[in-house]
Amino acid sequence: MNITALDRRLIWHPFTQEKTTDLPIAIEKSDGAYLYSEDNEKYLDLISSWWVNLFGHANKDIAKAIYTQAQDLEHVMFAGFTHKPAVTLAANLKKILPDNIAKFFYSDNGSTAVEVALKMAYQFWANKGINKKVFLSFDGGYHGDTFGAMSVGKKSGYHNAFSDLLFEVISIPYPETWFNDADYKKKEQLAINFLEKNLAKKGTDIAGLILEPIVQGASGMRIVRPQFLNRIAQIVKQHDLLIIHDEVMTGFGRTGTLFAGDQLNYDPDFICLSKGLTGGFLPLAITCTSQEIYDAFYSTDMNKTFTHGHSYTANPLACAAANASYQLLITNKTKLSLGMINKVHLAGIDLLMSNLANFIERPRVIGTISAIDLKVDNKKMQAIKRAFLIHKLNIRPIGNTVYLIPPYCISEPELFTSYEKILQIIQSCIYN
Ligand SMILES: *Cc1c(COP(=O)(O)O)cnc(C)c1O
Repeated sequence: MNITALDRRLIWHPFTQEKTTDLPIAIEKSDGAYLYSEDNEKYLDLISSWWVNLFGHANKDIAKAIYTQAQDLEHVMFAGFTHKPAVTLAANLKKILPDNIAKFFYSDNGSTAVEVALKMAYQFWANKGINKKVFLSFDGGYHGDTFGAMSVGKKSGYHNAFSDLLFEVISIPYPETWFNDADYKKKEQLAINFLEKNLAKKGTDIAGLILEPIVQGASGMRIVRPQFLNRIAQIVKQHDLLIIHDEVMTGFGRTGTLFAGDQLNYDPDFICLSKGLTGGFLPLAITCTSQEIYDAFYSTDMNKTFTHGHSYTANPLACAAANASYQLLITNKTKLSLGMINKVHLAGIDLLMSNLANFIERPRVIGTISAIDLKVDNKKMQAIKRAFLIHKLNIRPIGNTVYLIPPYCISEPELFTSYEKILQIIQSCIYN
């Protein structure tokens, strides 16, 4: 029996309606920006395997770091013990994160990084004898699939089946914007008015605000202006609330700067990192926070302890991968790649707009991310989605949003040629 048939019999896939889905493609090998299937087809990974990959698949430096680490120490419990890979990684990240970030709490995926931040924010107030149990978030924000993450992401549309079980969150309208958007000021003012009204009404019950800075990933690569978030932070800080940046998707160069927060003028109290942290090799996450947050837990009173942890907290192999990935991230070569990808995105979106203007809405580019929304019906959208794979491009539209977020190793011709193929694919699906 081949892999896909056996898969069909045994496996239940994430985010997948098993009844209507196509058979999965069995991937056997990978190299750089390419995935190679069992039947030797070659797919260009234009979405970095759900945004985790940074420098290409099977990167030799990262692979070697994991191999070397595995021969010394594969894992040790992280309470009562520590190890060099974890400490080195914290020291590395300290160099590139805002100055107020002083403490690093490990876990193993984006959802847990968010749970940790929410629980720390809640307990920060509780440890001071203050009861604040409401969170602020944005419409369309996605923060993971565990219960706290689902609660703050309840307006993402992904968690409707569980809405009865989620805690109280006030969700602010999200003024997404795009090239030549005439209405951004009006949308932003609406969101600010909504926030101010709710702060006046409920401000003292609110523990903090969580947001995906600058780009919301899972709701379709939706962008806001940094000026808007600066204003929101200013208002929120006047009410003494904590700010959590969920940079699980935006971290490590995706938005053109090392972190999306680098484009904002305030320092968040928490930064959640995962996805690209290990260059896409192993699951690992970190919730980064300030000395002030840490100090509220630092006590002889055992009840003030942060009692949270996971079996694989700070796994040394994952930390070794992350340290190797960090060394690649800070090179000038990576900086040049980020610039190149951005330039090609702008030219590529231009190409699509000049040929398909009537079928495209909300064209947008930030850093290494580009997106368009297609004005086609669901049937055509499904056809386009299939056609991408038939033409050996790994692109997985979210609803009607077609977006690219390629690994940094992609070449200029590979990326630009992809736009030409995307144009042809959309044209042939629209006109057929
Ligand atoms: C993917 C994602 C998460 C969840 O991460 P997982 O590792 O899938 O649990 C959280 N927040 C954002 C912004 C994400 O993109």
